[in-house]
Parts: sequence; structure tokens; C-alpha cells
Amino acid sequence: MKISVAIDGPAGAGKSTIAKILSKKFNLNYIDTGAMYRGVTLLAQRKGINPEEIEELCKLIKSSEFYFLKDKLFINGEDVSEEIRNVEVTNKVSLYAAVEEVRELLVDIQKNISKNYSVIMDGRDIGAIVLPEANVKFFITASPEIRAKRRYKELTRKNKIVEYENILQEIIKRDYIDSNREINPLRKVEDAIEIDTSSLCIDEIVEQMSIYIEKAIESVGD
Ligand code: C5P
Repeated sequence: MKISVAIDGPAGAGKSTIAKILSKKFNLNYIDTGAMYRGVTLLAQRKGINPEEIEELCKLIKSSEFYFLKDKLFINGEDVSEEIRNVEVTNKVSLYAAVEEVRELLVDIQKNISKNYSVIMDGRDIGAIVLPEANVKFFITASPEIRAKRRYKELTRKNKIVEYENILQEIIKRDYIDSNREINPLRKVEDAIEIDTSSLCIDEIVEQMSIYIEKAIESVGD
């Protein structure tokens, strides 16, 4: 029995925290597609390739091997999970993710992974493009201020020196680019279950989502 769960939503809504918990609970492979766009951005920045240099970007992606191991992203055997969260990557990732050719290549990799495994995948275009046939689709939201507060807390817990206002502005800017780009913009698909996490704690969100996943597993097993 193979199932797939799609989770979409804006930056900082808690998608990856929730997806990791649900992946363990239901024994699904967690695929963080945002990490893949971040990975491309990191590689491109290391080589000095801009988002406009499409041919170079495609070559870079085609010559790289992406895989996940224990929720960590490896590219060409290197664990890049920490580095892809840095400010330089975060501030530029939406520009690289808006390039049609980059999306085509990454969506292909993501679709291939889901062909062979039960997955829980999070991102912006999962329910619409990557897993249109997903057994369950979620759209997770929260206000920009709440998302910025959560990011701020998370980063300060890791002893990072950050300003709340900068995080809020970065989130608003990224939401705008992600929702207004021409190719596969962030949007809620009709058959997605929307969950506003603004006033919910992690346990409550996981509990709500688990009910839908359990139902999907039951119906697949029938
Ligand atoms: O999920 P995360 O915030 O790490 O994603 C980083 C960026 O990658 C997003 O702001 C968006 O620009 C891009 N992204 C995307 N499509 C996805 C996942 C992420 O465009 N499926």
C-alpha cells in the first residue's frame, strides 16, 4: 500500500515541523521540496550563477545528485541541511525558484521519488503540480506576524542574532514572489484541507491532520 500526502503553504507556517512528525507517525518518507530549491540556490551562489543564467543553472542541476537521508538533504554526497538555511540563501531562493526550467527539473525529481515510495511532501506546488493525485492534501497557513514570531524564536533558540522586523519583511517579500510568479505559484487547490495554525499548538495541528491521513490510509487499504 502506497500513499502520498501533500502539504502546501507560505513560508514559516510550520509545514516542515509538522511534516516531520507526521512522517514518523505514519512511516512516510518526508520530502522537503523547499530544501531542494534552497540547495539549487546554494550551489548557484557558490558558483556565482545568477537566476538569469538559465543554461548554467540547468547544467548545475542535471550534474548534481539530490537525496534525503534522515530528513537531511544531501547534494553530491554533501550534507547541506544547515547551510541552505543561511540568510543569503533564504533571501534569494524565491528568485531561483521562479525560473521555469529550474522548476521543471526539480518537479521531475520529486515526481520520481513519489513513484516509488509513500511520501509526505511539503512545498508550494505539491497539491497542484507535483502530487495532483495525492491521497490527502493540506494547505497550512498563519498570519505573517505569527510566522515571523515563530521563525524569530526558532533562530534565537539556535543563538542566531536576528531582528524580528527583518524576518517579517523577508517573509512578506517571499510570500509575494511565491504567490505572484507566473510558473506554479503558491495557491490552495480546491481539494486541499485548509488549516489555519495561528492559534493552534503543534500537537493540535498534528492531531487534526492525523484524522485525515488515517482516513486516507483506511480507504487505500480497502
Ligand atoms: O519551504 P521553504 O520556505 O524552505 O522554501 C524555500 C523557497 O523555495 C520558497 O520561498 C519558494 O520560493 C521555493 N519553493 C517553491 N516550491 C516548492 C517549495 C519551495 O517555489 N515546492
